[in-house]
Amino acid sequence: MRAYRGKSVFGGIAIGKIQVLGRVEKQVKRTRTEDAEGEILRYRQAAEAAADQLTALYEKALREAGEEGAAIFEIHRMMLEDGDYRESIENMIHTRQVNAEYAVAQTGDNLARMFASMEDDYMRGRAADVEDISRRLLCVLQGGQEQGQSFSEPVIIVADDLTPSETVRLDRDRVLAFVTVHGSLHSHTAILARTMGIPALVGTGLSLDGTLDGKTGIVDGTGGTFYVEPDEETMGRMRQARQEEQQQQELLRTLRGRENTTLDGQNILLYANVGNMRDLAAALQNDAAGIGLFRSEFLYLEREDFPTEEEQFRIYRSAAGAMGEKRVIIRTLDIGADKQCGCLQMEKEENPAMGCRAIRVCLTRPEIFRTQLRALLRASAYGKIAIMYPMITSVWEIRKIKEIVEEVRMRLRARGIACGEPEQGIMIETPAAAIISDRLAKEVDFFSIGTNDLTQFLLAADRQNAALDAFCDPRHPAVFRMIEQVVENAHRAGIWAGICGELGGDPELTRDFLAMGVDELSVSPGRILPIRKIVLETDVSRYRETWQKNWE
Ligand code: PEP
Ligand code: MG
Repeated sequence: MRAYRGKSVFGGIAIGKIQVLGRVEKQVKRTRTEDAEGEILRYRQAAEAAADQLTALYEKALREAGEEGAAIFEIHRMMLEDGDYRESIENMIHTRQVNAEYAVAQTGDNLARMFASMEDDYMRGRAADVEDISRRLLCVLQGGQEQGQSFSEPVIIVADDLTPSETVRLDRDRVLAFVTVHGSLHSHTAILARTMGIPALVGTGLSLDGTLDGKTGIVDGTGGTFYVEPDEETMGRMRQARQEEQQQQELLRTLRGRENTTLDGQNILLYANVGNMRDLAAALQNDAAGIGLFRSEFLYLEREDFPTEEEQFRIYRSAAGAMGEKRVIIRTLDIGADKQCGCLQMEKEENPAMGCRAIRVCLTRPEIFRTQLRALLRASAYGKIAIMYPMITSVWEIRKIKEIVEEVRMRLRARGIACGEPEQGIMIETPAAAIISDRLAKEVDFFSIGTNDLTQFLLAADRQNAALDAFCDPRHPAVFRMIEQVVENAHRAGIWAGICGELGGDPELTRDFLAMGVDELSVSPGRILPIRKIVLETDVSRYRETWQKNWE
């Protein structure tokens, strides 16, 4: 058995035969032409045909992978039609009297080299896009047909790297997974793979020496390992894991697309909690009606320096784009306590869970907050983003936040930058916020109850301390009473209230939350469908008749 570690693009387990995908590179010869105008015309016709192909690919990807997955082909078309790109090719044909193929290949190589040498990760990733466009143009110029990759049996694709169009052209019914030697997690191919839900690993560094073809492989997308000729123990373990996954898939198939409506007609929103774009794909796959908690601090935790406004903007915009019409609730930086981050250089605190964390960092270091708000307000022009503030305890905090938001919005607008009017809500995760939720409800658009922190503060039991597990019980009556009270106060003020703490994802409590009138549960993506099943089977009014509030 051989095992290779790679970067996981998409989770899941695939077992099957390995198919190494070689790319047939056609030779491009430089030839002298006497008819430069004729060559330019050939190039223009090829560019038109390539644009048609990209439109068809866009439509295919839109059907299979949604808007975010399809966006790359729109970008390719824009790059293809870009004035500088066209001009550079036509100039080369004209001034050097060369054939169209040569001018396309040279321009593509130069641009790809330029992108590849850039500092910015995102820009470096664009090198593959330029190569993809040149390859497409060359294929048309050389009279080639765009081939869909088809296989006689389901296979694990192993390749040096895959361009976005190669990925989307794969015959999905026959592709179990893919593994690449190179490739970055930021590439559009990776985004596409995630959205399409194909288990995938990139950057495995394995050598494509021709001994892999036809061998049995296992892609453990969750664990990040690619096994070649697995031993019996590994095979058994992976089969077991795959079986569990298939049971979940089964549930998926029957429940996808159903409304979350109880037998007696009560609706509840089932949203997903996510920490990054990868989780977002899982949210879509599990039919989330929205994102109830996007933990934005993970963008800060994964690095040593601050994410810039631009970097944040791009992430928030793609999150909104991926979810389309669905609400995406992005929680502002919730740093501190267990989530320490190098770039903030925070003072060491005696009791960080009750220290300068979350909204307190934002209000005491407003430059950090303003950067995030600018990114959020700009991104909200592209989708249904809502902003949520963590660790609120007082009315003045919200008023201050709203003042800052207004000021940021005005400054953006003064510079002619588009920004939206996102809903603004708060987390109810401190006892103070729960107790004054009647007053807080008048200030905001929604509540989301953070039972993880609410439990630790109500019970005075550190959620990080494993020795306190028995004492830090989220099913404590005090927590349930608080939830009931918060929901009631929200409804009185005409706003909605959800739960995004872990308790909301406990299927044993779904009926109780329905009976309390909770409007939304935001849970880990894998929990959505099991909870939907309970919702569909519940008659809330009957349940209420015999409801033993075991916390009373
Ligand atoms: C919570 O406190 O319940 C919550 C959802 O936030 P976090 O777990 O990120 O603190
Ligand atoms: Mg919290």
